[in-house]
Amino acid sequence: MTTPMFDKVALIGVGLIGSSLCHAMRRAGLAGTISASARTQKTRDTALRLGLVDEAYENAADAVRDADLVILCIPVGLSGVIARDIAPVLKPGAILSDVGSVKKSVIEQVMPHLPKDVHFIPGHPIAGTEHSGPEAGFAELFDHRWSILTPIENSDGAAVAQLKKFWEGCGSHVEIMTAEHHDLVLAVTSHLPHLIAFNIVGTATDLGKVTDSEVIKYAASGFRDFTRIAASDPVMWRDVFLHNKEAVLEVLSRFNEDIGILTRAIRDDDGEKLEALISRTRKIRRDLLEEEAQEKGED
Ligand code: NAP
Repeated sequence: MTTPMFDKVALIGVGLIGSSLCHAMRRAGLAGTISASARTQKTRDTALRLGLVDEAYENAADAVRDADLVILCIPVGLSGVIARDIAPVLKPGAILSDVGSVKKSVIEQVMPHLPKDVHFIPGHPIAGTEHSGPEAGFAELFDHRWSILTPIENSDGAAVAQLKKFWEGCGSHVEIMTAEHHDLVLAVTSHLPHLIAFNIVGTATDLGKVTDSEVIKYAASGFRDFTRIAASDPVMWRDVFLHNKEAVLEVLSRFNEDIGILTRAIRDDDGEKLEALISRTRKIRRDLLEEEAQEKGED
């Protein structure tokens, strides 16, 4: 048997991402022991029953004792409170990371509590589904997907390299960037699309009040795809919008301008403009699929 990369890994939260990490760590033998904390007894029992974790605790501080790697897998708005609770018991030399969909706010929340001898390296796997909870996870979630690390000023190079290796062991490609850049990129590629999905499904449902059955009956692929995204976890997404406020508002204002241009093109019967725009977006989709196929082929 090969030696695990970390003797003990502690996860705070065992929902979709936490449980997928457990599966991926077990698959690759990355952790000697996996301990975790979760708010409810039900989640702790499920995590133990499924063999996701070896130890489950109610308090985060109990889970992180002696852990070499600690990963926060909770809604981003809780990062500060949890960091405060675990700080006194974090092992000197341990790596503290997270999987939150927002990075600048997590750094601002954690830094005031961070012990000097702990390496804090924020992270975010760009992989997920609309499902939540410990039973939603699976080992392949991170395979061929990007995980982003946003080291803070003076992050230890060796610790960053080790965390990069950990995510690669979980199946990911790893990219390193600043937290500011991450938050702007994700506002465009993930946060805005989710906001639009929540809005569209809400609007269509309101419009469909009179003809409820028709919204369901004729929900062809377009609307159906939006309902999948719009089924995402309300607490997680509330926190994402509130904690990436600046970047989301910036891209939302650009989106509103562009919607104005489209509105005008329809009102003015400007078929040329509509066709040009749709041709451009169609090409983006094709390029994206091509790039994905190439990436998978390379592995
Ligand atoms: P999830 O399935 O809803 O799991 C959340 C976990 O946090 C659960 O174990 C939950 O415990 C725990 N938790 C919630 N509120 C808590 C509280 N007040 N105190 C202590 N623990 C609490 O969420 P997830 O999808 O794994 O998301 C976790 C993180 O990953 C978020 O920061 C999110 O931004 C990020 N992320 C999500 C995705 C995605 O697609 N879902 C993708 C990439 C990154 P209980 O089960 O006991 O309530």
